[in-house]
Parts: sequence; structure tokens; C-alpha cells
Amino acid sequence: MASAAAQSEPDQRARPSASDTAGAGQSGVRGSPKSRAMIRLTGVTKIYRMGEIELRALDRIDLSIAEGELVAIMGPSGSGKSTMMNILGCLDIPTDGVYELDGIDVGRRSDNELAAIRNTKIGFVFQSFNLIARTNAQRNVELPLVYAGIHDRAKRARGALEKVGLANRAKHLPNELSGGQQQRVAIARALVTDPAMLLADEPTGNLDTVSSMEIMKLLVELNDSGRTVVLITHEEDIARFAKRIIRLRDGQLVSDEAQEERSGFES
Ligand code: ADP
Ligand code: MG
Repeated sequence: MASAAAQSEPDQRARPSASDTAGAGQSGVRGSPKSRAMIRLTGVTKIYRMGEIELRALDRIDLSIAEGELVAIMGPSGSGKSTMMNILGCLDIPTDGVYELDGIDVGRRSDNELAAIRNTKIGFVFQSFNLIARTNAQRNVELPLVYAGIHDRAKRARGALEKVGLANRAKHLPNELSGGQQQRVAIARALVTDPAMLLADEPTGNLDTVSSMEIMKLLVELNDSGRTVVLITHEEDIARFAKRIIRLRDGQLVSDEAQEERSGFES
């Protein structure tokens, strides 16, 4: 936390303990009260400068997301969703403010350190799947393990494909799979490093309704087994699967609501 009061607390208060609440001391922040913060944004601001013009893509965002949450970030085009995704994913750093991911102050890290944080802490899922076309499902899933220098890749990749229900498609090329199956391979690839959180940017944006529902059920299942999931979407039907919806407008956080009843499955 950035406040002078927090910093002047005695040492034993300086490090959050496992029993700390996610949004301790921050009003209006709802999270699972028993979990620690996976994501903590304090006054996060992103300014794009183009010559004389300054554009405030994110404006003093305070936000805490606890371990094990399933959160949707929504907002109209231009509201700052992609900018938020880039910052949460350690692809970019804030102009101002502090981003802590799993207790690490991301803004103070070098590019190499950021890459290492990305590889170990975050599993990315993109709208366009981003699979390598000439490489089968299993090899696609193994790829992050290659970058991370992890052995035992084939076994782990098969395990991840099993989790998404595609063990029997391991040798298929992306173009031999449906869109929904390709996205499941992409989710297996995101899971294979056992990341602290899944960060999904419009994961159903290229899918038909049936496949979209399958992908959302899978993300909910993964979340039910404890994985933190942050989902960026502009579709209300997709956001309904989340336990909490955060809305951005013009770079500002305009609402943050827990959904008592997830209605995604009833439709
Ligand atoms: P969204 O994903 O919600 O559509 P973005 O985060 O892409 O919103 O954009 C937020 C604002 O920041 C928009 O006004 C956009 O034009 C601007 N913006 C985004 N990326 C850049 C950039 N690299 N340089 C300058 N302006 C940008
Ligand atoms: Mg965008």
C-alpha cells in the first residue's frame, strides 16, 4: 500500500499475511474475504503521449482481486480494457501508481524480470487463439514449458490437454480442430505452467454461441478448482459467468459489483 500510514506501521504489519482480506482498508472493494490479494492496483494511471497530446487511458484505478476470484472487466470500446489487460499481464507498466501481482511490485522490475513474471505467473488466453498453425496441439501446449526451461514437457502438456477435455486431440493440427477446440488448446497452453492467474482477453470473441458457452463453463470449472481468472469482455452474456463485474469508462473504474447469482448457465 502506498499510504504513509501503512508504511510507518511496525514490520510485522508490512507484509500481508495469508489471513489478510483482499481489500483490507479499501472501501467498496469486494473479494473473497479469506483470500489474499492476487492483484492490487493503487492509483494506477496510464498516459499515452502523442506529441503535445496526452491521453489518460487509465485514470487512478484502485482495485484488489483476491486469489480464487473470477472477475470480468467490462467497458465500451476505448474505455481502457486493453490497456488494463496489458498492465495486468505485465506487458506494459503504469505511468503512475503501483501494480502488485502476487505480492510483487511489478513497476520496479526490469524487462527481463517482467518476462519471467509473465512466464510463471500468468496464463494468457486471446480472442484469436494464437496457436502455431503447423504444430500439433500437444506441441503448442508444450511451448511455454520450453521458454521456462521445464523438463517433462510431454507429460505435463498431456495433463493440461486432459484438463480441457482434449486428450484425444493431442496430435491434431489447429486447422483440424473447431474454433472451440482451438481455444481449449489455448487454455491448456495457458494452464501448463501452473500460473497464478489466467488472463483472458475476449476469449469467446471469435466463437459461436455454443462454443462460447463451453469455453465459459471450462473457465468456471478452472475457477471452481481454485484458479484466479480475469476476463476481459464487452459481452454481457459472457460477463454473467463471473462472480464480480468491474466496469470501466473513459479510463475510470465506474462500478465494481459482486454477482450473487451467476446466471450464465441458465440461458
Ligand atoms: P478498449 O480496449 O477498452 O477499447 P484501449 O485500452 O484500447 O480501450 O484504449 C483506451 C484509450 O487509449 C483509447 O482512447 C485509445 O485510443 C487510447 N490508446 C490505446 N493504446 C494507445 C497507444 N498505444 N497510443 C495512444 N493511445 C492509445
Ligand atoms: Mg481493446
